[in-house]
Amino acid sequence: MTQETLSQLATEKGIRYFLISFTDLFGVQRSKLVPASSIDTMAESGAGFAGFAAWLDLTPADPDILAIPDRDRLFQLPWQSDIAWMPADIYTSDGDPLLQTPRLVLKRVLAEAKAQGYQVKTGVECEYFLLTSQGDQIADGFDQQSKPCYDQQALMRRYEVIREICDGMQVLGWNPYQNDHEDANGQFEMNWDYADALTTADRHTFFKYMVKSIAEKHGLRATFMPKPFQHLTGNGCHVHISVWNDDNKNLFCDPQGELGLSNLAYQFIAGILHSSQALCAFSNPTINSYKRINAAATASGATWSPNTASYGGNNRTHAIRIPDRDRFELRMGDGSANPYLLQAAMIAAGLDGASQQRDPGPRFDNNNYTDPLPLEKVKQLPGNLLDALRYLEADQILIPRLGEEFVASYLKLKQQEWQHYHQEITPWELTQTLDC
Ligand code: ADP
Ligand code: MG
Ligand code: MG
Ligand code: MG
Ligand code: MG
Repeated sequence: MTQETLSQLATEKGIRYFLISFTDLFGVQRSKLVPASSIDTMAESGAGFAGFAAWLDLTPADPDILAIPDRDRLFQLPWQSDIAWMPADIYTSDGDPLLQTPRLVLKRVLAEAKAQGYQVKTGVECEYFLLTSQGDQIADGFDQQSKPCYDQQALMRRYEVIREICDGMQVLGWNPYQNDHEDANGQFEMNWDYADALTTADRHTFFKYMVKSIAEKHGLRATFMPKPFQHLTGNGCHVHISVWNDDNKNLFCDPQGELGLSNLAYQFIAGILHSSQALCAFSNPTINSYKRINAAATASGATWSPNTASYGGNNRTHAIRIPDRDRFELRMGDGSANPYLLQAAMIAAGLDGASQQRDPGPRFDNNNYTDPLPLEKVKQLPGNLLDALRYLEADQILIPRLGEEFVASYLKLKQQEWQHYHQEITPWELTQTLDC
């Protein structure tokens, strides 16, 4: 039987337009909106883009790039059902994959995992704030508790928005299972089931688009920015991970192992801790990211973000937490992480841990906020983006696994971003230095 064409699907489902969407190196989603009448040829030949116009490290003289959508990952917008969104991979006009495409970087790492018989499954927790439409303050003026986490009243004041997003996830078949108010005023989190890593990355990407769109529909502005308010807890993006074999057996489980986890799980933990400083260039990729990690305690009493590359049991003060007997959680990442690169870098580091049989040493059970580990025992996470980029530049592990061309492009654009930031003369500098 021949596969149904996209235009046939459009007729059947009432889709009038398709968004062919790719995510660039800075995590920006870029699209062409294609009418159903043209989608079959466009899906085949690819939608054309001038590559220099996106963050891809191309020049204005380079030939156009082509975004080929993945039709198996089509999401009909729950809030606007005449439109369907498809993530795309980028190819050059010669038909070669563009190596610095984030989605292709993740696919490359997953292919390496698969070659070793590993199927990686992940779940992400994407925290976000709901702000006024101007984006300058928390939308709910009544949301003022100093410990606002799980605040029922503030959660339910946003019921209309949360319900619409959660209903959307249900329609899409993601199996959302809980929504809550998080640890900062105006901050929320919504959780859906884990899946294979590429599916989760595509959903993560679409989730950000969905949350922002539905918030705007309700006259609000959603932000995933790592630290929009100095005194409040920032937006984390924790990743939970487990590795399965081809028979769908969770290889991270071992009833005899410490906390129920296997040697393989501990090797992955060790690999991630070993590469954690360079990994920050992807898990914490913006200037603002470093105002979330290494931050002073917030109004709620804790930042809930790690400062050191350490692991513990069900203990939220370390970079890695083992919440249950089937997986572990990486807590470094934040809302500015590129959904594809966050997972690609984390899995690459984990695979290195497995191939080198790395040992993470014993876990730490301390409260790392009040009783921090001495730095002879653990690595400290980078204090700013420039440091993270320097760790990545000097790295020997992630670069070959993610691809030299890709990392070179990424570093070049991120170093430019740092320079751009560094040229700013900030209000803080003026108050501190004007009278020097
Ligand atoms: P917490 O806030 O305690 O860190 P959440 O319930 O908010 O946890 O998020 C947990 C995430 O981990 C969800 O996406 C969930 O589906 C995912 N998860 C659960 N089990 C596994 C597993 N075995 N492998 C990968 N992800 C998992
Ligand atoms: Mg034109
Ligand atoms: Mg959570
Ligand atoms: Mg959370
Ligand atoms: Mg978590």
